[in-house]
Amino acid sequence: MDLTEPYDAAIIGAGPAGLFCAACAAATGARVLLLEKNADPGAKLLISGSGQCNITHTGEIRDFPSHYGGHGKFLKPAFLSFTNENLKDFFRERGLPVTGDENGKLFPATRQSADVLNVLLRECRKNNVDLRCGEPVTGVMRKPGEFLLTTPSAAYRSTALVIATGGASYQKTGSTGDGYRFAGSLGQPVTAIAPALTPLLIRPFPFAALMGISFENARFSVWRAERKIADYRGDVLFTHLGLSGPGILDASRDILPGDVVRLSFAGAMTREEFAADLSRRVQGNRSWQVGTILAGYPIPERLNRKLLALSEIPDDLKCDHFSAAQRSRLVANCTEFPLAVEALGTFSVAMATRGGVALDGVNPKTMESKLVPGLYFAGEVLDIDGDTGGYNLQAAFSTGFLAAKSIVKSVKNG
Ligand SMILES: Cc1cc2nc3c(=O)[nH]c(=O)nc-3n(C[C@H](O)[C@H](O)[C@H](O)COP(=O)(O)OP(=O)(O)OC[C@H]3O[C@@H](n4cnc5c(N)ncnc54)[C@H](O)[C@@H]3O)c2cc1C
Repeated sequence: MDLTEPYDAAIIGAGPAGLFCAACAAATGARVLLLEKNADPGAKLLISGSGQCNITHTGEIRDFPSHYGGHGKFLKPAFLSFTNENLKDFFRERGLPVTGDENGKLFPATRQSADVLNVLLRECRKNNVDLRCGEPVTGVMRKPGEFLLTTPSAAYRSTALVIATGGASYQKTGSTGDGYRFAGSLGQPVTAIAPALTPLLIRPFPFAALMGISFENARFSVWRAERKIADYRGDVLFTHLGLSGPGILDASRDILPGDVVRLSFAGAMTREEFAADLSRRVQGNRSWQVGTILAGYPIPERLNRKLLALSEIPDDLKCDHFSAAQRSRLVANCTEFPLAVEALGTFSVAMATRGGVALDGVNPKTMESKLVPGLYFAGEVLDIDGDTGGYNLQAAFSTGFLAAKSIVKSVKNG
């Protein structure tokens, strides 16, 4: 038992939110304990961005809140206290420049998430963070003026407590949802959780043989009980079981089993524009095969053939004999192909968690609980899930920074 002097802050979870919060709080001399259940820290950070770690986005920081499905307003003070530019500077000043890709995603110049983790660990070491790995926190208790944390081998006291245990997806990385239990046991409201940034299982899925084909900035809409709930634009990928790709992953937070995704293969054209354009091409080339006309659109050839078959149009049908019913089926299939969502990918494949520590119970200007003084939250344990593109890591860094800043202020005030 280590029940001597209490730490100024104990942080549960050495992911990006916990590591950054610990490094920033300790930089001012605060005594910080960081407890990690895994033998090594940052397991999810290491696999982020397929190991390349898309740490943030080049966009304007004031546009960031629109990337969290209606929950981004809560993050505004955190983003303003630590912006994407601050994040770039932080890594650059520590020898790891950041570079962007054509979609505005920012990565470490080395494209190695291990380099990002190493900078964070070096910073923790330099600032004397007491990082203890292989120590799963099993319980937290509030005592007058302090918190008591227990692990299988020890107990610790601290004045402030930060829960930075992440979400509940990719559980093999250590994020098993413990933080929700800790928050709940301290009286903090937690909302229902579900997988986010997750692929869709489509059944029946007529394009399984075309897995790997992707569509840049495709139009699609989501329908529930025959009513459209939203329109989207984004990159879509055929998998062997259904749909994935950044556009689908981002939309998945709004999608439920039983919904229908209507996907367009006609690029920027609407259904009406495509119908008019197809008519024009058919009128002007009456002796051509319909398949040849379709090949004039930027639709992959294998998909063209499939769309003709699904529209009950023989391969060798000439435009002369192209009936109104066939044309209407083809237009519908090319612009609003209906794909029924049987299920969403589970927590084992979801890249983020929807739901978590309820935002109305947390002060957005400090990350401190409105109900339990001295209790703070950072990162994905909050009811925050960002779009693909670096938005989840920026949220982890910004909320970690703001929690650290608030803790340091309250330590100084005494
Ligand atoms: C495959 C994949 C790729 C991703 N790619 C990107 C990307 O490129 N860009 C991006 O912005 N986001 C990406 N994300 C999301 C991003 O990685 C997470 O949002 C981010 O890691 C959350 O940080 P966090 O610190 O809040 O939680 P985590 O990174 O989940 O860290 C939480 C830590 O808490 C520890 N912990 C949990 N319970 C306990 C306990 N009881 N005691 C002690 N320790 C505990 C865990 O072991 C873990 O180390 C990706 C996610 C996945 C799964």
